[in-house]
Amino acid sequence: MKFLIIAALGVAVAGAVALKKAKHDSSSAASIPAEGAADGSREISANPGRPIKLPKLMDLGADKCIPCKAMAPILENLKKEYAGRFDVEFIDVWKNPDAGKQYGVEMIPTQIFYDASGKELFRHQGFFGKEDILGKWKELGVDISGVQAAAGIVREAPVAADTRPRESVCFMCDGDVAAKTKTVVKGQSEQRNLCGPHCYFIYFSSIVGGDPKTEEAKVSVTDWASGNLVAATGATYLYGLDGKGRPTIKAFADKEAATKEQQTSPGNLLAWDGLRSKELATRCAFCDRAVYPEDACGVKFGTTHGHGCCTHCSMGVAARLKQDIEVEAKDGLTGEIIRVKTLNGMIASLEPATAVAWFGQKKGPDGKWVSAGCFKQGFFVNEANLQKWLDARPTMTGRQITIAQALADKMKLTPEQIAKACKLGECK
Ligand SMILES: [Zn+2]
Ligand SMILES: [Zn+2]
Repeated sequence: MKFLIIAALGVAVAGAVALKKAKHDSSSAASIPAEGAADGSREISANPGRPIKLPKLMDLGADKCIPCKAMAPILENLKKEYAGRFDVEFIDVWKNPDAGKQYGVEMIPTQIFYDASGKELFRHQGFFGKEDILGKWKELGVDISGVQAAAGIVREAPVAADTRPRESVCFMCDGDVAAKTKTVVKGQSEQRNLCGPHCYFIYFSSIVGGDPKTEEAKVSVTDWASGNLVAATGATYLYGLDGKGRPTIKAFADKEAATKEQQTSPGNLLAWDGLRSKELATRCAFCDRAVYPEDACGVKFGTTHGHGCCTHCSMGVAARLKQDIEVEAKDGLTGEIIRVKTLNGMIASLEPATAVAWFGQKKGPDGKWVSAGCFKQGFFVNEANLQKWLDARPTMTGRQITIAQALADKMKLTPEQIAKACKLGECK
């Protein structure tokens, strides 16, 4: 299969280049239909490419055709600026002539507009400017805010039930509570088990108006040496680093035992006050929770670098500060970097453009879906990574959303809601 250019119409950017099979008479008019389209009843079917979840603009052209060349920077710009809102794809039909046939292309460049279900809505031949393209989406009634994007992965019920006994599940992070680091907060009627002192500080920073002294009096930690629970405020802490550079905390009832452990397991010895100031030093710029920078998203606003305790909180920084931000998040599965820039509360750029978000949700007692909290959120460089991450987390429920949606969800919060963001019982 070989296409020939048989005519170039008009001035460079206004024209289109006709495509035609070699066996046709090449001396005739510019817009001889490609084979199979002669009766004009070309079947407009679903996009034969990968299943799409966002509206999509497909441009079929060639790198050497002049109007196509004029389209290239526009497509590049739209791809960045509208990442997560509509997809932009370019196919070179000279290098990939089968695609020209597959899409029924008669002239290049041809732009095909698909809705989020993959249905073709409109096609245009020739150069089409940025404003023309954006105007066409509006005219077609396609929402390209990215916020209404349908589809993606939805998991309303766990694939497998969480069979762990309740006392072995951390109240904050849902992780396993290991016997050697178990931390207990005694409430008025029930006790809350936490996986370690770090989750206590997250818990403390999630209480509305919590007084450190009052809360601390209720906390017990496990003595690393004996396995017994002891008062947190009286213990000595060995603050070290794991292989990944993330802090580890071991509690000791007896300072001598801590010093002994320090010889084989390096770290700093801290009393409770020292531990508290270290643990509360870095806070989420959206919800104010204690975070380890190693776990957090980097958020830049103005000349300041801060942190978001989870990917969704990092988007919330734009809402809380009413500022444009730059976020550096890590793919929940692979740790690959995802960069998001905002402009006036909207996505200004997203790298990679294929990145998606997981909104971890659970069904409340009233049947309404609510956020499952900061530990259940994530960004991924693509949907395949999200799927793998979910496969390894059978108890997780929630839905895939766009990064634009994750931002929009935060932007619509009222100042009152932001003030209580992620606080216990107030998670939005
Ligand atoms: Zn925990
Ligand atoms: Zn947060």
